[in-house]
Formats: sequence, structure tokens, C-alpha cells
Amino acid sequence: MPQLRVAVVGAGIAGLAFAAALRRARIDCHVYEQAERLTEVGAGVQVAPNASRLLHRLSLRERLSASAVAPQAIEMRRWDDGGLLQRVPLGGLCDRRFGAPYYTLHRADLHSGLLSLVPPDRVHLGARLVAVSQGADEARLHLADGTTVAADLVVGADGIHSVAREQIVTDEPRFSGQTIYRGLVPAEQVPFLLDEPRVRLWLGPDRHVVCYPVSAGRQVSFGATVSASDWREESWVARGEVAELAAAYEGWHPDVVRLIGAARRVSRWALHDRDSADRLSSGRVAVIGDAAHPMLPFQAQGANQAIEDAVVLALCLAEAGPGGLDAALHRYEQIRLPRTTRIQRQSRSNAETFHLADGDAQRRRDVSARTTSGLDQHEWLFGYDAERATTTSRSA
Ligand SMILES: Cc1cc2nc3c(=O)[nH]c(=O)nc-3n(C[C@H](O)[C@H](O)[C@H](O)COP(=O)(O)OP(=O)(O)OC[C@H]3O[C@@H](n4cnc5c(N)ncnc54)[C@H](O)[C@@H]3O)c2cc1C
Repeated sequence: MPQLRVAVVGAGIAGLAFAAALRRARIDCHVYEQAERLTEVGAGVQVAPNASRLLHRLSLRERLSASAVAPQAIEMRRWDDGGLLQRVPLGGLCDRRFGAPYYTLHRADLHSGLLSLVPPDRVHLGARLVAVSQGADEARLHLADGTTVAADLVVGADGIHSVAREQIVTDEPRFSGQTIYRGLVPAEQVPFLLDEPRVRLWLGPDRHVVCYPVSAGRQVSFGATVSASDWREESWVARGEVAELAAAYEGWHPDVVRLIGAARRVSRWALHDRDSADRLSSGRVAVIGDAAHPMLPFQAQGANQAIEDAVVLALCLAEAGPGGLDAALHRYEQIRLPRTTRIQRQSRSNAETFHLADGDAQRRRDVSARTTSGLDQHEWLFGYDAERATTTSRSA
């Protein structure tokens, strides 16, 4: 039987997770990545049970448990006095309820784990996509060096500024008006955060901070959001000013001030998303991850959703076989769109509720946060099994 020729654009979390899931399904693919080298960039990433179960099944359980931390809870606190607003228990409780752990880890550990599942000769570096064309029989990647690559299917995993997406939707990224400073500090410099591994958030007017341990507990990763209309860069390596950041959080809870004070280097990142698309494929081109549904990071689900996309699309392709491309892409879209649209919207809405000024609306938010502590409210998100959802869609 002829093999499906699959060309993936982008070797980020989405592209590598997809290549790994395809490989497990015995479908070959080639990944084209613009970077000349895959370096260790970024800071922390939270991986919830909805994605950790998929990573475990891709054989990354051992690697993840060696490099990740399993926090005992997510805690939200007030910006000034640190009063507890909400505690979501994680640890063993989460693992037992959802059958998979909640992890916090360095993005590079997740990335290198996924990369280890893809044969090196299938990842082409220094290959920047400039355009995609497609006809009835095949699609083509047009790379910046003038070469073209023919494939039966092009999967764009090329992030928020996706070139592949242009085949499917005409839209632009939307600047949220917020930027985030990100940094890593050695754990021994913030002993006051180490009593119990936790994801900690402090919410205040116009800004919030999140931090959690990564690298098997050796470092603490943090992200501090501020409103800013003058900063439009998006890069894992753009340098921010530590002094500017410290000034933005003056007067906050002493734990926040000491955490920021311990940072020697921060990166600064303008936060963009896009409106939800009503399709994820057109002809022989499909998109996954941020290319499909870029979202604000306020629900910590962008990478999780990229992993879900990757596994679902690979399963749909494997089950449909080389002759069933249209049906497979249609099924992928049907399974993924309702869920990713909901999470994109929720992430936008968190951008509002996290940053309320002190007053009536903030007090209502805090009452509601206290009454929704626990894991029940996360059932739809963490309890979801993307592989089971795909199998169920087949029987339906
Ligand atoms: C501050 C912040 C915190 C976050 N925290 C979390 C979190 O805790 N949990 C979570 O799940 N998500 C989180 N996210 C979101 C998560 O980082 C993204 O959703 C995820 O990285 C998307 O992966 P991706 O592979 O789709 O895209 P990317 O990571 O953007 O990867 C795209 C890849 O494609 C390559 N590429 C781009 N254009 C081209 C081209 N033209 N040709 C060839 N290659 C190309 C790029 O070089 C890159 O390697 C966060 C995001 C931010 C900004």
C-alpha cells in the first residue's frame, strides 16, 4: 500500500509531538524547522493530566518523572497580604482522580523528550517555510533556500505566525495589551517557596505573577504579567529589564518582591492570541498547536492542547489510511474545534478576571474562587482523554 507522505512545518512541541505520534502509528514524516539549531530556550511549562497521560503513552513517563516536579496544589493568593483565594489540590489526589499527574517542568526538558522520539534524519533544520501551494494530488512546501518539498499532507505546526495557516484562514494575531516577564531562579535563592512544591499565583490590579518549581526542583520558573502597549516583541530570548519588572511589582507581597529580586535575567514577551478559527484544515493542509489556536497563557494549556492535537490527528490519519485523507482531516477538526475554542475563550476571560482592580468585581471573583476550590471544576479539562475521544468519535 502506498505510504502517506507527511511534511510537518515546525519542530516545537506540536510538531515533535505529532511526529512522535505518527511514528508510533507507523506513518513516516519529515519535519522542517527554520531554526539552525534546537537550543534550550524558554522557561517553565505546566503539563496537566490531559496531556501528561498522552506523553506517558508516547513512552515519556520515565523521562518526565526524572526532570519534572509534581506540585501538590495550585494556590491563588491576593497580591498584597497573600490571603488565600483558592487552592486546587494536585499531587496524588489529582493522579488518582485523573489517572495521570500534573507536572511543572522546564520547556527544554519537554522539548528534548519529544525530540528523542523522532529519528534525527527526519528533522531538517535551517528549513524556513515561505509559502505553501497545493493542487488536487499533492501539496508543496516552498522553503526560503529555494527548494520545494512535495507531500500528500502538510501539517503546519509553525506557531502563532504560521505560514501554513494562511491556506486555511485569513486573520492576524491580536495583541492582548499585556506582556509577560519570564525568568528562572536557583531554588536555594528562594527557600521561602520550597516548603511544598506548588504552583503559586498572586493576583492584583492589572497584573499577576505565577511561579512553580522545575528541573527536578533545582530551579523556580516565574512569569509576571504587566499591561503595556509599547512592547510588541515575541521571543523566547528577548531580554527584559529586571529593574523595570521590580518597579512594576513594588508594594506586592514580600514573597513576590523577593522572588523577583532573586532574578538576574528575565525575558519579556508580548502576549498575542487569535480569534478561534472555524476550521483547522483546507485541502491537503492542516494546522496544529499555536498555528491552529494560539491562546493567552492564562490557563496554561497551549502546549497541552498542542499535544492533544498531535495525538488526535495522528490517530485519525492512521485509522483512515492513505486513501482517507479528507475524512481524517474532517474528523480531526470535529474532535478538536469545540474543545480548543472553549479553552481559547477561557484563557482570554482569565486575562480579565485575574487582573481586576480591588473593588466589587474583585470581591465577587474572590468569593467565587473560594467556593470553587477543589478538582471538580477541572474535570472537563484535566479528565479529558484525547485518544478515548477519538475512539468514541469513530464508534459514534
Ligand atoms: C509566557 C507563556 C507561558 C506559557 N505557559 C504554558 C504552560 O504552562 N502550559 C502550556 O500548556 N502552554 C503554555 N504556554 C503556551 C505554549 O508555550 C505554546 O502553546 C506552545 O509552545 C505551542 O507550541 P507550538 O509547537 O504549536 O508552537 P511554537 O512553540 O511556537 O513552535 C513553532 C515552531 O515552528 C518553527 N517555525 C515557525 N515558523 C516557521 C517557518 N516559517 N518555517 C519553519 N519553521 C517555522 C519555530 O521556529 C518553532 O520551532 C505558554 C506560552 C507563553 C507565551
